[in-house]
Amino acid sequence: MSKRFWLILMSVLVAGLATLMVAVRSETVALALIERVLRTQMVSPLPAETLTVVVCGSASPLGSAPDRAQACIAVLTDQHFFIFDAGSGSQARLSQAGLPLGRLEGVFLTHLHSDHIAEIPDVNLSRWAGSGTTEPLAVYGPRGVEQVVAGFNQAYDTDRDYRVAHHGADFLPKTGGQAKALTVDPGVVFSEAGLTVTAFTVDHHPINPAFGYRVDYGGRSVVISGDTVNTPSLWAAAEGADLVFHDALARPVLEVMHKVALDVGRDRTAKIVMDVTDYHASLDGLQASADAAGIQRLVLYHLVPSPPNWVVSGFFERAVVAPSIVAEDLMRFELPSGSAVIHGP
Ligand SMILES: [Zn+2]
Ligand SMILES: [Zn+2]
Repeated sequence: MSKRFWLILMSVLVAGLATLMVAVRSETVALALIERVLRTQMVSPLPAETLTVVVCGSASPLGSAPDRAQACIAVLTDQHFFIFDAGSGSQARLSQAGLPLGRLEGVFLTHLHSDHIAEIPDVNLSRWAGSGTTEPLAVYGPRGVEQVVAGFNQAYDTDRDYRVAHHGADFLPKTGGQAKALTVDPGVVFSEAGLTVTAFTVDHHPINPAFGYRVDYGGRSVVISGDTVNTPSLWAAAEGADLVFHDALARPVLEVMHKVALDVGRDRTAKIVMDVTDYHASLDGLQASADAAGIQRLVLYHLVPSPPNWVVSGFFERAVVAPSIVAEDLMRFELPSGSAVIHGP
């Protein structure tokens, strides 16, 4: 190709790009684009007779990753919709995923650390506004959940009054904006329309009790670890599961964070970083444990630290073997009943 050809091609591309940028700055074009995005976002059809799982938060509180919310996994079927933990930022992720929040029946809390409960009020506001229900949101969790729910109910009481005054009590009955606590113990904690949720104990000492959950539907299964070290109790409960979302900690990265914090005189940060290493799951051996338990796909989430870039993400990615992967927010997995297929990333 001649030099002249490339010059003409480059000029055409630059002119095209410039035209596109000018067009987007026009409000008419911008509004048309916004309308198109909203149409796909507001309607996200769910496949029938399928266990659908969406990552609505994959981060931990340590570090920062602007594209990740804190712990949240959504599980849906034709008849049910639950989320497992509601960490900071998860309401926006649920909304971006186009999930029918008005249908949300409950939140299962793995434990009561702030990064697992912070967004309960915002998630509940979306559910209440989207449904107009009179039923309070069911919040399942280990003992102590009553206090958490009572506190949120009290803190948001004035907000509920404002919204009822603004939209009308017929449209937003006040009780629907509240939450109700349901304390769970290990064992089957929910069973209806073919969907079973089983709680089991994990090791997040000194946070006791801390639970993981297993969801079974149509011969398919997904396990959510919550926060835990790599513990036999989880793999026993997860035996043969299709998908396991597991807490993951990149120890070498935390060791560097600890060293730098000490070097620059941030002794408190150094201590906290080291304390964190003893109650999350180090990457070594996680894939082997999943393989030994017959897990089809391990998905690392609750990443410690939350990776700010691909250099840190690499530590998590090197710890898994395909088809196991590292979670990203808004990843979606579909497990049709009575098959072994997992549609997803
Ligand atoms: Zn925790
Ligand atoms: Zn956590």
